[in-house]
Amino acid sequence: MKDTLPDPITIKPAGRRFQGSDQRAPLREGLRGCGEFGPSQTAGRFYPMACVALEVTQRCNLDCTLCYLSDRAEMTYDPPLSVLFARITTIRSHYGRGVSVQLTGGDPTLRKVDDLEALCREIKRLGMRSCLMTNGIRASRAMLTRLAAAGLDDVAFHVDMTQERNGFASEMELNRVRKAYIDRARGLGLRILFNTTVFGGNFAEIPALARFLRDQPEVGFVSFQMQADTGRGVLRARPDAITQDSVIRAVEQGYGTSLHFDSAAVGHSSCNRYSSVVSAGGKAVSLLSNQRLVQRVIAALEEVDTGQDAHIRIRPSVGRLIRRHPLLALWALGHLAGCLLRLGSGLLRGPVRRQAVFIHNFMAADALEEDRCASCVFMVATANGPLSMCVHNAQRDQHLAAPDRVDSPMGTYWWNAATRGLSARPNLPVLKDPEAAPLKRLKGQLRAARQSRKDAS
Ligand code: SF4
Repeated sequence: MKDTLPDPITIKPAGRRFQGSDQRAPLREGLRGCGEFGPSQTAGRFYPMACVALEVTQRCNLDCTLCYLSDRAEMTYDPPLSVLFARITTIRSHYGRGVSVQLTGGDPTLRKVDDLEALCREIKRLGMRSCLMTNGIRASRAMLTRLAAAGLDDVAFHVDMTQERNGFASEMELNRVRKAYIDRARGLGLRILFNTTVFGGNFAEIPALARFLRDQPEVGFVSFQMQADTGRGVLRARPDAITQDSVIRAVEQGYGTSLHFDSAAVGHSSCNRYSSVVSAGGKAVSLLSNQRLVQRVIAALEEVDTGQDAHIRIRPSVGRLIRRHPLLALWALGHLAGCLLRLGSGLLRGPVRRQAVFIHNFMAADALEEDRCASCVFMVATANGPLSMCVHNAQRDQHLAAPDRVDSPMGTYWWNAATRGLSARPNLPVLKDPEAAPLKRLKGQLRAARQSRKDAS
């Protein structure tokens, strides 16, 4: 059990700020350094970073068995808006326009809606995307409507059996919750995402869950996240049966087709596997079945738009690609038509939708691989700038204790997670020791250990 601060980890994060004009360079060099910047790679080529988590609270209304938060999380204060605004500005200065900023926590919906609206507006004002990452319990239709009006782009619902929701004995039963969440977000102009932790308790159900998600036309993005031994959760090491390959097979079984996860890369292949599918009426077809075509399109897109935020100009880029490479465009069009034809009778049964499918392989806190951390596409905003999510999870308490500096016209202020509001003094309090907290404030391993001591006495 981790009840002391872990040793500092010396792995260099990929989030170092690039002083030149091309903000893609650090990620590109990180990927190149580990042989991952091949012709299928999109990261560092079309964008400097895939997404950055902005933790707006450490509090949560669940106690997941694989929670990545720390034992001290429930004993912290939320960052004031001024701190979060400063971190948003830092994200923008590192990665430019178009990067996805994930409003996360803890569960971000425990903050006031006014705060979340202000954050969405600021992210939009700076030309970035925002995504609300929530377990959905408090994400009411009224809240989502307000946030969509304030500029929220995506809502990602985390629903799975690690959450131990009362009254649900399987992933299939949880589909009732997923359906209800889709209804809440439908028609608001938000892209709807679903995150699922793949662990020993639901691995056998992944094919059926993948099939369910495939058949939800409103869902634009599906992410399967493999169990990782990090954070305060009571479940620890991943079972041997859960590997990238076995999860790929389970997801493909559910989609009923090969998904060609090797055709296009989003960052390091040991971290992320990506596919893009079209589906209709209970059938799905991979759009990435021809890797040669995918690589030719990537090379042509790179040629027609060399900008570092090329991914946010995809439509004009495709227009230019068609004009400059008509034969390639014809090839791609023919491939697309073939994909649609392969949907066959599904075309008669329902609308055609595109869906991104992602498999994410977080690392255990005590088994970080330097090359993967140095080419990470999934960062967390900290007081000292963006940091790889895996590194951050392994050393959370150091970052909760680290002071944020906020410069304002009234002076310079300081904040860390042990501080309620801003402080004029830089010598901030230390984080509370969770051993001294009452049982009701504890979660995860520490709560389980305290409870079993109590039961035994
Ligand atoms: S968060 Fe971890 S698993 Fe994900 S891309 Fe970064 S280093 Fe890889």
